[in-house]
Amino acid sequence: MHKSAEIKQLLATHNLRSTRARSLILGLLLHENRHYTPDEMLAELKNQGKPLSTATLYQNLRQLTDKGILAKFSGKNSVLRYDINTEEHNHIVCTDCGRVLDVNLEGSLDHLIPKPLPDTKSDLAQWLVATKHLEFKGVCPDCQKV
Ligand SMILES: [Zn+2]
Ligand SMILES: [Zn+2]
Repeated sequence: MHKSAEIKQLLATHNLRSTRARSLILGLLLHENRHYTPDEMLAELKNQGKPLSTATLYQNLRQLTDKGILAKFSGKNSVLRYDINTEEHNHIVCTDCGRVLDVNLEGSLDHLIPKPLPDTKSDLAQWLVATKHLEFKGVCPDCQKV
């Protein structure tokens, strides 16, 4: 599907009007599996000659998150990042610049079972595990060059 049609449909499904700001934000996040911070979004849109004001950006990010179109999470140095993939999934994080990518796993997490640390009293065995999430850390190609 063409990206602008995909964005219109995504907004319509969640009863949100298609506006310039929302289209720009979703256009960025649908692009190349990026997980932008608000500052990165402002800079990137300015770069593209389609600037948004900080207030407009934050207002729309809040609306898109409230509707469940976007997920937010805390990345490197607790900086807030936005993700268009709202399903449970796994990330790799660059330890230098903080860039985040989604990753698929070869193999399954189903066989991984959390065990208590040795020699500790723990009620871990009584916990009900709901989801499993894995975070990979590494250095992205851009940061390897410097
Ligand atoms: Zn990096
Ligand atoms: Zn993600």
